[in-house]
Amino acid sequence: MNNDREKIKQCLMGLWSGQVRWDAPMADYCTLKVGGEAWAVLAPTDSDSIVRITNGLSAEGFAWRVIGQGSNLLVPDEGYHGAILVMGSGYGAIRMVNEAGEAVRLEVEAGCRLGRLLNWSLEKGLAGLEFVVGIPGTLGGAVVMNAGAIGREMKDVIDLVTILDGAGEVHTRTQDQLSFTYRSWGEPPESILLSARLVLDQGDGDQLRETCRELMRARRGRQPWGMANAGSIFKNPPGGYAGKLIETTGLKGLQVGGAMVSEEHANVIVNTGKATATDVITLMHEVRDQVLTRHGISLEPEIHMLTVRPWE
Ligand SMILES: Cc1cc2nc3c(=O)[nH]c(=O)nc-3n(C[C@H](O)[C@H](O)[C@H](O)COP(=O)(O)OP(=O)(O)OC[C@H]3O[C@@H](n4cnc5c(N)ncnc54)[C@H](O)[C@@H]3O)c2cc1C
Repeated sequence: MNNDREKIKQCLMGLWSGQVRWDAPMADYCTLKVGGEAWAVLAPTDSDSIVRITNGLSAEGFAWRVIGQGSNLLVPDEGYHGAILVMGSGYGAIRMVNEAGEAVRLEVEAGCRLGRLLNWSLEKGLAGLEFVVGIPGTLGGAVVMNAGAIGREMKDVIDLVTILDGAGEVHTRTQDQLSFTYRSWGEPPESILLSARLVLDQGDGDQLRETCRELMRARRGRQPWGMANAGSIFKNPPGGYAGKLIETTGLKGLQVGGAMVSEEHANVIVNTGKATATDVITLMHEVRDQVLTRHGISLEPEIHMLTVRPWE
């Protein structure tokens, strides 16, 4: 691993002529608003650049990670010693591919926000994505996390995906060639989701909008508003709910520094204003240990930790 902060600048400047934010506070790039600095943050706008930059960084031994909106991300206080590629709105095009009978196929780039994708499909009267209403994040993050709600998941709308694999090769995979499970797309962590083809159904725009409004109303009562958070911290254990286990252990409101178990939803940790990543991690350990003692169940984190090459 190349640990030279200055050398990464030279390397990146040879790979990318667009903007780079050096020594960037990662709290700006994740919804929990904690974490130290990344050496470099950039937002490529096309797949050729993503391939060139990641292959070039890997060849020189520099660490890199791809992120979306950072809505399921915990960045350590020591930051990230490498480059962060943000899949943002510049790499978020939506294109109708074909309309065959009831089914409609869309090609969507990884950086497209879920909210924009949902609005776009509602405007066209396309059904199938209503479950993402109120889930922040990008298409890429949602596929990688197999994000879901109300019994539906991203895998239910995926037709095929275009991936840049760990060897630096681009290829496509159909839905049945992927191994989606609960909150995972089953690919190695070094794989990048470049784009996905989604399959939706023809529907009634007004009716779909009303369904989304109802789902949003139900959501509002169940999650904290106005305080930075990263959604569910722990995965639900088989046959149960992490939130219920945490609540019945009496941990709502438990606080470490500026991090607190939400009063509204026990499986959410909120940043009350000045939390550090260490506060959040310490609180997660405390919650996991107390739930294990009380219920004999060991909770696994759902949130992803932004560490240097977690696959090594
Ligand atoms: C208020 C709130 C409510 C939420 N509700 C839900 C919910 O109901 N259901 C649910 O499932 N989740 C929920 N979440 C969690 C989160 O919104 C989803 O997991 C979302 O899909 C993450 O997308 P993102 O773009 O923010 O990913 P990020 O947080 O940026 O990244 C998550 C992981 O995916 C990787 N990644 C991101 N993009 C790519 C890419 N293109 N290629 C390869 N790897 C990539 C990152 O490296 C990281 O490991 C909620 C979060 C919040 C804050």
